[in-house]
Amino acid sequence: MDFLDELQHRVLIGDGAMGTELLAHGVPPGRCLEELCVSDPDLVRGVHERYIAAGARLIETNTFGANAVRLAQYGCEHRVGELNWTAAQLAKDVARGKDVYVAGCVGPLGITAEEAAARGIDRHEVFTDQIGALLDGGCRIIFLETFLDADELLVALEAKQALHHCPVVAMLTSNDRQAFQAAIAKVRAAEAEVVGANCVDGTHALHLLDGMDPDATLAAFPSAGLPKTHDQQLAYPTTPEVFAANARTLAERGVRLLGGCCGVGPQHIAALAAAFRETTTPT
Ligand SMILES: [Zn+2]
Repeated sequence: MDFLDELQHRVLIGDGAMGTELLAHGVPPGRCLEELCVSDPDLVRGVHERYIAAGARLIETNTFGANAVRLAQYGCEHRVGELNWTAAQLAKDVARGKDVYVAGCVGPLGITAEEAAARGIDRHEVFTDQIGALLDGGCRIIFLETFLDADELLVALEAKQALHHCPVVAMLTSNDRQAFQAAIAKVRAAEAEVVGANCVDGTHALHLLDGMDPDATLAAFPSAGLPKTHDQQLAYPTTPEVFAANARTLAERGVRLLGGCCGVGPQHIAALAAAFRETTTPT
């Protein structure tokens, strides 16, 4: 059964955050997390392995910010091909022989359309370079996630569609349900097979997805709530139990692909997988 077929039949559990998990394992804040795929692959491999052990059936590559614009903050803008290809190979290596999908993770560029234009940055080309390398590395699902600007998400989606016809999961983060649902309609019209919300807490994800077209295949990767600083570390308030209970409600409202964003770790994914154990057993 392939990824899209499976989502028609059951709820699929994805992984939690990569960034907060790396920071929790001693990576100093301010470090280029995507570069760790090359300089400390075992650290990244460990995150993937913990999510699979917790019950994730889909893992995302450590490439959220691996585009030339964000990598330029670390002087790594010339390493887009290398970092994305390596991250894809690493995740595929961890998933080999297991019933686990590997998705290539793509985040926004972190600059506005105006800023991109003023700096002479061709956003389509930037996304094409990143997604092309993820596909070369073997990813056959692409996640476009944490987009605030629907137009930027459409630029990334167009770049992906021009490269390959593998499935795409397109997720926005938003405060405004009306704007969110209008954006999702555009993304669906551009043939994103799976759409949804990420990087908002579980209750807000429910609000954003309420009243969606029942034909849409929905994903939700909520965060573990708004973090507070505690002993110079970020502490996220949502417990694994509350996270899993929210996820169940999301599934009752039709969400088929569930995972987590900032602050969601292997314990949250384990609680989530346990809550769905019956419904994820093949029939
Ligand atoms: Zn997040």
